[in-house]
Amino acid sequence: MTGQQRKVRFAIIGAGMAGLLAAIKLKQRGENFTLFEKAAKLGGTWRENRYPGLTCDVPAHAYTYSFEPYAEWRAYYATGGEIQTYFEKVAEKYGVLPHFRFGCEVTGAVWDDAAAHWTLTLASGETFVADVVIAASGVLHHPKMPEIEGLDRFKGAAFHTARWDDSAPIDWAKVGLIGCGSTGIQIVTAINKRVERLVHFQRSPQWVMPVPQFEYTEAEREAFRKDPALIDAIRYNQDYINAVLRFTDGVTDIEGPQMREIEDICRQHLEDSIKDPVLKEKLRPNYRAACKRLIYSWCYYEEVQHPAVHVETGRIARVEPDGVRMTDGTFHPLDTLVLATGFRADRFIRPAVVKGQNGRSLDDFWARRPTAHYAVTLPGFPNFFMLNGPTGPVGNFSLIDIAERQWDYVMQLVDHVEGGNGRAIAPTQTAFADYEERRIDAAKKTIFGSGCTSWYLDDEGVPATWPWSYQAFADAMAKPRLEEYELIG
Ligand code: NAP
Repeated sequence: MTGQQRKVRFAIIGAGMAGLLAAIKLKQRGENFTLFEKAAKLGGTWRENRYPGLTCDVPAHAYTYSFEPYAEWRAYYATGGEIQTYFEKVAEKYGVLPHFRFGCEVTGAVWDDAAAHWTLTLASGETFVADVVIAASGVLHHPKMPEIEGLDRFKGAAFHTARWDDSAPIDWAKVGLIGCGSTGIQIVTAINKRVERLVHFQRSPQWVMPVPQFEYTEAEREAFRKDPALIDAIRYNQDYINAVLRFTDGVTDIEGPQMREIEDICRQHLEDSIKDPVLKEKLRPNYRAACKRLIYSWCYYEEVQHPAVHVETGRIARVEPDGVRMTDGTFHPLDTLVLATGFRADRFIRPAVVKGQNGRSLDDFWARRPTAHYAVTLPGFPNFFMLNGPTGPVGNFSLIDIAERQWDYVMQLVDHVEGGNGRAIAPTQTAFADYEERRIDAAKKTIFGSGCTSWYLDDEGVPATWPWSYQAFADAMAKPRLEEYELIG
């Protein structure tokens, strides 16, 4: 660092896992920061999703901040409610809540070149000036409603899974469930024994990876409290790490032994678990395992065989006031219709209107696809850093680890600004263009591009993901390549 040291003002957008991480780290650095959250409490995805069966399919002890292990998990895989409690406790413990402004939706952020700062506009009309913006606004938070004729005329309750309606009849009711992603599958396992009948509308079957689930006893939790090394032994368990590496290596080496092993395990799981040959064929995917996000489940195949569950693989013609009509004329009378139809994964911080250098909008920059330099920074948008932004790693591993590594990368860039080397920092157009060209080329060759539909794909069918190994991501985040950046002002 050569220039004069200075402290900058930070604005964090979003109080989910990543925004909370940023707040804790900035507090520990003694920085000046304010966090804006549109909702009334923190938690992000764990606040918004409350559907029955909500579980995180990453082992609970691996789905925690590295600096804040948690002895209280009740089982190997935690429920959404427990995870929400974890984040609330962590926020209290680290004393960051006085910096949080709840009920404050950021609707705009405009960069001022002369002043080298951002002006944020809130939904209330209030403005706020910050030198650095941390966009931690999440990925899967804009529900995608299916375009099905007649949906608005359904007489019963019809709602998206991220807007769970507690008053809707489920117990001893006729329930329809559209969608077989991680969400739909988890709901089947949770409500199948409560309903009179559950019609699961399955457009595409899923590959299901069998995983263990077991409860921790109070004696085990007591042992975890006394000896965090026992928690580390689970978090860094070699079998778990091997499974993550098998997955992340297999994503890029799609004909390699790791991906074949994943497929073999899933296929055998189907063969061994489903008794009825008709149901077995309904549940057999016709695309490569892990092309869509793999389902990790310890009970789906058992629960889908419950007599109350009917897997409907026909095409939906329309929703009628009392149920769903299939194109072959079959009618399913329903009291409640649950839409597990996923999210608009291309939104990120939008609909907030973000304008960078020369008034260029993020909408314009992302006209073709949402993307970012190494998933974190954007050329022409100085001092604007994204956590869990576009083109980051996706799969069956902890996004907390991703965000922590991205945070280390961000802070090394901010160090140059606080060190007085320039008032702002952004990647060069050339470096970004090179990254994006290499990324797209590699992404097309990943398992995600092997011929299925999924929320990983952008409008042109290119996987919007990190296309290299997890180690390559860790290496990239460990030390930013400063020659790819320009200091401004
Ligand atoms: P999703 O994976 O995008 O799945 C959406 C489902 O809805 C698909 O089965 C899709 O069918 C179906 N669908 C969409 N529109 C439809 C229509 N018009 N008619 C019939 N079917 C329709 O969404 P998600 O299950 O909510 O999961 C999203 C992501 O959230 C996951 O991939 C994961 O990253 C995350 N998640 C994680 C966990 C966890 O435990 N960690 C739990 C839940 C969610 P097609 O496949 O045919 O398109």
